[in-house]
Amino acid sequence: MTSMMQPQIILLKEGTDTSQGKPQLVSNINACMAVADVVRTTLGPRGMDKLIHDDKGNTTISNDGATIMKLLDIVHPAAKLLVDIAKSQDSEVGDGTTTVVLLAGEFLREAKPFIEDGVHPQNLIRSYRAASNMAIEKVKELAVSIEGKSLDEKRSLLAKCAATTLSSKLIGGEKDFFAKMVVDAVIAIGNDDRLNMIGIKKVPGGTMRDSFLVNGVAFKKTFSYAGFEQQPKKFHNPKILLLNIELELKSEKENAEIRLSDPLQYQSIVDAEWNIIYDKLDKCVKSGAKIVLSRLAIGDLATQYFADRDIFCAGRVAEDDLHRVAAATGGTVQTSVNNVIDEVLGTCDVFEEKQVGNERFNIFSGCPSGQTATIVLRGGADQFIEEAERSLHDAIMIVRRAMKNSTVVAGGGAIDMEISRYLWQHARNIAGKSQLFINAFAKALEVIPRQLCDNAGFDATDVLNKLRQKHALPSGEGSLYGVDINTGGICDSFANFVWEPALVKINAINAATEAACLVLSVDETVKNPKSESAQGDAAGMGRGRGGGMRGRGMRRR
Ligand code: ADP
Ligand code: MG
Repeated sequence: MTSMMQPQIILLKEGTDTSQGKPQLVSNINACMAVADVVRTTLGPRGMDKLIHDDKGNTTISNDGATIMKLLDIVHPAAKLLVDIAKSQDSEVGDGTTTVVLLAGEFLREAKPFIEDGVHPQNLIRSYRAASNMAIEKVKELAVSIEGKSLDEKRSLLAKCAATTLSSKLIGGEKDFFAKMVVDAVIAIGNDDRLNMIGIKKVPGGTMRDSFLVNGVAFKKTFSYAGFEQQPKKFHNPKILLLNIELELKSEKENAEIRLSDPLQYQSIVDAEWNIIYDKLDKCVKSGAKIVLSRLAIGDLATQYFADRDIFCAGRVAEDDLHRVAAATGGTVQTSVNNVIDEVLGTCDVFEEKQVGNERFNIFSGCPSGQTATIVLRGGADQFIEEAERSLHDAIMIVRRAMKNSTVVAGGGAIDMEISRYLWQHARNIAGKSQLFINAFAKALEVIPRQLCDNAGFDATDVLNKLRQKHALPSGEGSLYGVDINTGGICDSFANFVWEPALVKINAINAATEAACLVLSVDETVKNPKSESAQGDAAGMGRGRGGGMRGRGMRRR
């Protein structure tokens, strides 16, 4: 080669590692496919779970794509992209995290032969984008609105969406029980945007069925001092005082230097200390409150003082619990007990301290502003309850989404098959290479029903052929058919209430296409040698560790 004869041009620092061109692209695609393969088996109601344990000995069992991806600690820079889209799907819509990763992986898998054959990535990207837009338009067109229904009807429709989300989870066996609970909780908080108004409390022990919903706030009994037993534990319509101050006898002499000329004066200092605390307690009592909660400690003196006056108190209440109580009961947290007016006191129908499993719980129910709800989760192992909480979080997000833009599509792969068919049909009218690329996109969408079958142990080829045939019916009557997870055949998913909010699908297709296009558009990685030596320096690591681009990053299965 003539270029051998030319002097070498040194452009980058010595030790810089670059790889470029087709091999680079193919290696990135392989890495992304490997990531998709990791979460593949978790999709759907019959999907498996992953047990991940880290070097600290924490074990997590999860079915949630985003959680798994986060815990995997992927270092391959291209594959990391899939972690990011899973995360963004999780925060944007809350569900469909496995779907989005699978789709992105499949788009890339379909693109790979073209790249290997020398197709320019930009051609692929253009067609993928166009196909994605068409797919999203089609989803919008197919979506069915549940707007304008009565509250009762809406409740049952929302419960269907929640049940579909939950059916793929560990608590899927009790999906109807939990779906109802989730819908009640979301409806309880109304239009409030703050998700933290739904509290989830985990109490080990009992069975899932012992879980319950409080229309209000519940939290574990806080640490309490002697005298607590004498306090009443149940009130109707109590006034509630919320504080952010300590109610404890303070030895002021610790905080200040005091010089005494006469030992007798010492008593006056002690008296002053007592007076300060009694004054505070007196003001609390005068406010008329029957329940006093504080974020800071309430000492034994105060506890006894309140007990003598039939007042209930709890100190060291967690901050978010206190805020939830404030929001629910209409009270305001006070930083001083001077001037406690009636307006800052909250109230609720019933306050009660109750035994839940091994724990005692303070429960405020029937709150006037009603913008909070608390789910008390029961179950055996810790990992189980943790996963149950994540699953409920998904369901809560889905119900909120469905309530806001209330359109749903048929799940179980029905919508994916329908879009796929639509794209095939559309592609037939396109002349040129683009037809092939759009077909590839359409084929990739079939991964959802195929994986649902694979995970359930059905014959995927057989089911997919049946589905294709059904969806191809010119009358369009088969457009709602998806995988029947119970029999291994096909069924009308919509009629069987396998519903998903349209937004989940739209967002998944969008994000997966974007990720695939991004991976396709990278043709060179440069590893800067400096970043290698700077390992351990957390800042700026994201790109620095980019060395993995050569494909050494992900564990392959
Ligand atoms: P993701 O993390 O993407 O939400 P899931 O494991 O929750 O993954 O699986 C969701 C998929 O399972 C969706 O495509 C949904 O349509 C499908 N699915 C859920 N319930 C059923 C069911 N009862 N029958 C068939 N498919 C279902
Ligand atoms: Mg899901």
